[in-house]
Amino acid sequence: MPKTPSSAVKSAEKPAAQAPAADLSADFRQLYRRALAQRSDAERDVATSAAASEAARTLLAERWAATQAADAKRGAKAKRVHYLSMEFLMGRAMHNALAALGLDASLPATLGKGAPSLQALIAHEPDAALGNGGLGRLAACFLDAFATLGLPSFGYGLRYEHGMFAQLIQDGRQIELPDEWLRNGNPWELLRPELRYPVGFGGMVVAEGGLRRWVPAETILAQAYDFIVPGHATERVSTLRQWNAQPSHSIDFAAFCRGEHLAAAAHLLESERLNWVLYPDDSTPAGRELRLRQEFFLVSASVQDMLARHLRETKDDIHSFGRLNAVHLNDTHPALAPAELMRLLLDEHGLGWDEAWAITRQATSYTNHTLMPEALETWALPLFERLLPRHLEIVYEINARFLAEVRARFPHDEARVARMSLIDEQGERRVRMATLAVVASHTVNGVSALHSDLMVQTLFADFAALWPERFTNVTNGVTPRRWLAQANPGLSALLDKTIGDGWRADLGELKKLAPKAAGKKLGQDFLKTKQANKQRLADYIRRELGLAVNPDSLFDVQIKRIHEYKRQLLNLLHVVARYQAIVANPEGPNGQGWQPRTVVFAGKAASAYVAAKQIIQLIHDVARVVNSDPRVGDKLKLAFLPNYGVSLAEIIIPAADLSEQISTAGTEASGTGNMKFALNGACTIGTWDGANIEMAQGMGEDNMFVFGLRTEQVAQIKAAGYDPRLHYEENLQLRGVLDAIVGGAFSHHDHDRYKGLVHTLLTRDPYLLLADFSSYVATQLEVDALYAQPAAWAERALRNIAGMGFFSVDRTIGEYRDKVWAVPAKR
Ligand SMILES: *Cc1c(COP(=O)(O)O)cnc(C)c1O
Repeated sequence: MPKTPSSAVKSAEKPAAQAPAADLSADFRQLYRRALAQRSDAERDVATSAAASEAARTLLAERWAATQAADAKRGAKAKRVHYLSMEFLMGRAMHNALAALGLDASLPATLGKGAPSLQALIAHEPDAALGNGGLGRLAACFLDAFATLGLPSFGYGLRYEHGMFAQLIQDGRQIELPDEWLRNGNPWELLRPELRYPVGFGGMVVAEGGLRRWVPAETILAQAYDFIVPGHATERVSTLRQWNAQPSHSIDFAAFCRGEHLAAAAHLLESERLNWVLYPDDSTPAGRELRLRQEFFLVSASVQDMLARHLRETKDDIHSFGRLNAVHLNDTHPALAPAELMRLLLDEHGLGWDEAWAITRQATSYTNHTLMPEALETWALPLFERLLPRHLEIVYEINARFLAEVRARFPHDEARVARMSLIDEQGERRVRMATLAVVASHTVNGVSALHSDLMVQTLFADFAALWPERFTNVTNGVTPRRWLAQANPGLSALLDKTIGDGWRADLGELKKLAPKAAGKKLGQDFLKTKQANKQRLADYIRRELGLAVNPDSLFDVQIKRIHEYKRQLLNLLHVVARYQAIVANPEGPNGQGWQPRTVVFAGKAASAYVAAKQIIQLIHDVARVVNSDPRVGDKLKLAFLPNYGVSLAEIIIPAADLSEQISTAGTEASGTGNMKFALNGACTIGTWDGANIEMAQGMGEDNMFVFGLRTEQVAQIKAAGYDPRLHYEENLQLRGVLDAIVGGAFSHHDHDRYKGLVHTLLTRDPYLLLADFSSYVATQLEVDALYAQPAAWAERALRNIAGMGFFSVDRTIGEYRDKVWAVPAKR
């Protein structure tokens, strides 16, 4: 069982207090003007934006040097944390940087007449979208907390040339375009020419004087770029070190002189290819050689870098590496790190197996992000062996020793041994990365109480039987700086006025809102800030889609990756049901009219995910019909906003009245979108899943619109043999909805377009949409009823905010520090 029960709600972590920062306006102004003078396009907004980021980066770089100097002197007091992640979904950096430097509010005064506004500066910055969704955004929030809490740390990632694809909608269908975020350069990063490491691939293993040594067939150089991330109310900054692949040698000059120009440069392409693109799917292993190469490239460069730093700081004391360094695996994507660390300790530093393994285990920890079997990473043995022959030897040795331990503990249980082995022997032999991560880690955590419980009951049950103390829970959190202070200045000012401004650094302060939540004036002020945000979103929808929506309608929002388990389709079934009900019964469900609603979707589908892409198309088909039906008017509008990402989320979330968190119970590991919405005063309609559960406990269960089957019920129904067709036959409303979709009511009478989608619902419905439909629709009516009473709605929303103190990323990182990394608290 996880060490921490779900009920243990600790108070928020308090970042170390700092002396007020010096006024940097004069420095900033001077740097800005110098940077602008070097631009040929000094008139344009792009140039002013670039000059402002260069000025801010220069000031942050000074803080970086001071932070590093302080950390190098920390001695044996604290571990340094190395957070390895294939994804960091950073979004824009400008606002956060200016806020950290204390320059955001005074910007116009600082830059003087004719200078661009903060909004104009921000608008020209592309998102750094080096991640797919929640997992990558979590990593970005962690960097914010590392700096804010003053944790000695490095984030390590890849510097993808193209991040998450840009989503275009054409005729209701998703088109993917390459993301060109580096086209104008990246003013936030610093090239570190002195930090470059060779990373090998392929080749063979030779024996040399008792040591094994890997002789790779090819070598690619990993060049470091640092992305500096500031903290809140502190001079400390954290670093995201991103690796860029470079060829280890220049063009083949002889080939070039023979006129074979392409052949002369073939290896350049081969190396650069490595960080061309982020894999556009966060839930299925890409199963491709390039992905495995990317993973090893990240791991090898990062481990070499941290070893070099450790040896420099400790005067070559390799033995203390595990005591002074944490190596954290964000999901299994960097799970080769312990194997690479073992290789370097054994082969390069000459340690014996036992000491190398002790050091590796002392350093390594792992966060699991999903229990879905199809999302578990494994690699075919022949591919693994061809690319990483020495690492395969090490994996075999780890496995042999590990399985001996299993057999000693569970004699005569070869079935168990086969389940637990690092090698899946069924069919094509494969290396199991989750198993490698668990075996090599001292601590393994899930990301919400429910998920961590399920993790030890299902996916890792065998491992929990062997090592119960290894598993724990750390519930996710989000940064209140970006997601409240910067995204929602109106609400932030109201909070400052009502409970003081301490919530930015200690989100637990929000609970002071609870006794005031019923206040009439506060409720009205809250609704006023919400209204302004809704007007801004309505303007955006009109600009983007040419669609007029009523800013007084209830804004009902579901924005996240499009995935069957997240059940955007259930939301859409409700939209269709409501549409049909409005047409059939204009007087409303109880004769008092319909509560006007604007339903907003946004999200990307993985490029190869057919069902998800069909859902996007169906949303557009339904929107076309509903939005143009004169019988409906503003009682119902449906908007799909293309190209979901951090910056779009920052516009949409502050404007939401209702947050849709409706995954099938037991499938969403945690969710973090749910937290951002509640923090911004949206009420949640949600299933008893992921972190929704802890949120409901924090705000009081009655303050969330909870519906649907619970995890145990889902399991029972599936075990008993679920027949979705019974729901279709029994529920007239549901039947009307599905018949209309399959009958072509939204697809110009094209009966085939959604035949497959509906057939799946009627025959398998693996995510139980039909089983939860009636409960969902009934709960939506409760939402309408409360929304019709503005004072009661405002009170509910304020109680939601008041209960969100636990979900700060500062609390999350405080728990990782204490429970996972065991880094002594500073001071
Ligand atoms: C928060 C966030 C997510 C995660 O959303 P979930 O609703 O938890 O899946 C994904 N993408 C972006 C851009 C986000 O900001």
